[in-house]
Amino acid sequence: MINNLSELQKKDLKYVFHPCTQMKDFEENPPLVIKKGDGLYLIDENGNRYMDCISSWWVNLFGHCNERINKVITEQVNTLEHVIFANFAHEPAAELCEELTKVLPNGLNKFLFSDNGSSCIEMALKLSFQYHLQTGNPQKTKFISLENAYHGETIGALGVGDVDIFTETYRPLIKEGIKVRVPYINTELSNDEFRRLEDECIKELKDLIVKKHNEIACMIVEPMVQGAAGIKIYSARFLKAARELTKKYNIHLIDDEIAMGFGRTGKMFACEHAEIEPDMICIAKGLSSGYYPIAILCITTDIFNAFYADYKEGKSFLHSHTYSGNPLGCRIALEVLKIFRKENILKTVNEKGAYLKQKMNDIFKDKPYVKDIRNIGLIGAIELKDNLLPNIRVGKEIYNLALKKGVFVRPIGNSIYFMPPYIITYEEINKMLQVCKESIEELLKI
Ligand SMILES: *Cc1c(COP(=O)(O)O)cnc(C)c1O
Repeated sequence: MINNLSELQKKDLKYVFHPCTQMKDFEENPPLVIKKGDGLYLIDENGNRYMDCISSWWVNLFGHCNERINKVITEQVNTLEHVIFANFAHEPAAELCEELTKVLPNGLNKFLFSDNGSSCIEMALKLSFQYHLQTGNPQKTKFISLENAYHGETIGALGVGDVDIFTETYRPLIKEGIKVRVPYINTELSNDEFRRLEDECIKELKDLIVKKHNEIACMIVEPMVQGAAGIKIYSARFLKAARELTKKYNIHLIDDEIAMGFGRTGKMFACEHAEIEPDMICIAKGLSSGYYPIAILCITTDIFNAFYADYKEGKSFLHSHTYSGNPLGCRIALEVLKIFRKENILKTVNEKGAYLKQKMNDIFKDKPYVKDIRNIGLIGAIELKDNLLPNIRVGKEIYNLALKKGVFVRPIGNSIYFMPPYIITYEEINKMLQVCKESIEELLKI
């Protein structure tokens, strides 16, 4: 155990069980105590600054301690901090819904609120099941999802997920969804080979749906990019085919934009790459730019109508979260949308994304340790070859080395990825990539 721990580190280790962490790892690398946020940077208790290259788990779009958001949250906290949302309405929620209809794909105009992404997924799955129950198809109880999918870690969400480290232990508790194959874009495939793979995946999905549609309530997807799978990117054509097939066979298409929504892929919502209109969209993460736990399930009027009846018919959607519709979260989200509009954020994302792509190629292409380089919008990933250093957790070591140089990345398996706040500058993109290159080469001793 390291013995020069600060008082706060000692207190933390005495009490806190950190998320997604083997606590024993802290014996070697104790948690950093972050004192302050400043734009792209996190500042620890010793005054060291770290570039937040993963937007603090993909949420922070406009930097830490953003002046504009700080201002509106202060105003809102002095006006109305919270009110029960079952009985009451308020301005920030109503205004937010109206603003969302202006940026969402057509048809999504009713909104259910919760306070985190996983609960939003739970609502979507329950709502889909209950919709079919109440519209004469009680046998439609199954869910389709994609291989390697991630939709959160509550029991229902794990059923439609397919990342073993999260799911394995809990299998006896889980209602498993039906998993389908996805055509991943991969630099090793020729155009013809990729086209063939796409055709195969679409055919498999079609065969499944034609055969089993009578039992299937919904299909859930992360649009275009599977984040937790290690930034795997698939084709818009597959997504478009999924929309056509689900529509034809009365299966809801649930579009989980929790990670990829709000400009990350270069479009406001990633499903726009396929020009589709899903039946439901889940949004969270960037919705409040990392300021507040808020999530929203956006649905069609058709779905809403299946629940609209006299109370005694028992068709209500009895699902609630205590903090649903919290005014602080809504007010922040409204400001986020305003920033998008006023500052032409999508243009910025595309310009910086193109630069990131170019620089990643300049630095990493043809390196002997690189297996694949991927990117879309302001996301980049460098996948390292397997088994570069047997028995070493390569991602963890690269995290440690880069952190010492003031760059915070959190690799997934062998993939080092970049999902920085949109305020990152071109020079900072250079530094982020350069530090990662040096860290990898230091670890590999080359
Ligand atoms: C993060 C994430 C979730 C879960 O959201 P939480 O707020 O962490 O519960 C669901 N789906 C996707 C695609 C995510 O990235």
